[in-house]
Amino acid sequence: MHILVTNDDGVQAPGLLALAQAMRGLGRVTVFAPDRNWSASGHVKTMDRPLRAREVTLADGTTALSTDGAPSDSVALALLGVVKEKIDLVVSGINPHENIGHDVTYSGTVTAAMEAVIGGVPGMAVSLHSPEEFHGVLEYGTAAQVARRVAESVLKAGLPEGVLLNVNVPYLGEDEIKGFMITRQGLRVYRDALDARKDPRGKPYYWIGGEFPIGVDEEGTDYGALKAGYVSITPLQLDLTAREAMEKMKKWEW
Ligand code: MN
Repeated sequence: MHILVTNDDGVQAPGLLALAQAMRGLGRVTVFAPDRNWSASGHVKTMDRPLRAREVTLADGTTALSTDGAPSDSVALALLGVVKEKIDLVVSGINPHENIGHDVTYSGTVTAAMEAVIGGVPGMAVSLHSPEEFHGVLEYGTAAQVARRVAESVLKAGLPEGVLLNVNVPYLGEDEIKGFMITRQGLRVYRDALDARKDPRGKPYYWIGGEFPIGVDEEGTDYGALKAGYVSITPLQLDLTAREAMEKMKKWEW
């Protein structure tokens, strides 16, 4: 088995190293990730400039590839042939914050897994529900073991065509996790606020600021599972068609 490991936090992020190390128990691992942080960059295809890939050394002394492109660019480059050996699974993460509900199209972690699906390879994204405004060194051990367990199942059973997995792990010890829950996307509540400032020449500039988003704690959802101490596994597909709206709109006069 050959597993491609990527992320959106940059090739030197500790979550990526923990993930790569856990995946090595399942087969050959190639790490190919952006050279900088692309969090909340969404599903990107860089077309207006060339992309470079270069070898880098990770903190454990192993070799990885990094690119100046986005997470989804890394996956595309790998699948298009920059990585020569056939790839059986793409695993993205471990993101230091959860990716739930509406986060999935913002998330570089999740959109990297979406790119895998576009390339015809099973993909999964792994994110950690770390405490809000946590300062210090995050513990990725549990999430890495969870990622390994889920990847093992995906490699064994396969995924339906066009489906990727969005995995979110509670910030708990391995023995404190209640279990695995297959969930649907919940609702994110963004608390974005405009922060308008002036530059030294008096011209306005803007930050999309505000508080960290929260979630609606509802049973059966990704956020609900996390709040109850379960690993949340949401199967996602790229078909975003609103089928109910389709039926309603067909009845309009056209
Ligand atoms: Mn990130």
